[in-house]
Amino acid sequence: MSVKKELLEILACPKCKGDIQEKSMFLVCKKCKLAYPVLDNDVPDMLIEDAWKLEKAEKAKFKHNLEL
Ligand SMILES: [Zn+2]
Repeated sequence: MSVKKELLEILACPKCKGDIQEKSMFLVCKKCKLAYPVLDNDVPDMLIEDAWKLEKAEKAKFKHNLEL
């Protein structure tokens, strides 16, 4: 499962408008330390209020379907 490359290129962090990187089931903004979950149908959820803290996503090994 991965987000299409073309889509990744146009997506930006909604908070800082910076670049985001795909990491497993998340799109990560290192600047804001936020991880935006990519939903099952490969659609990224780019809402700031839905974003995970990067620390938490790291603990979940960038899988949001993992029970912590
Ligand atoms: Zn950002």
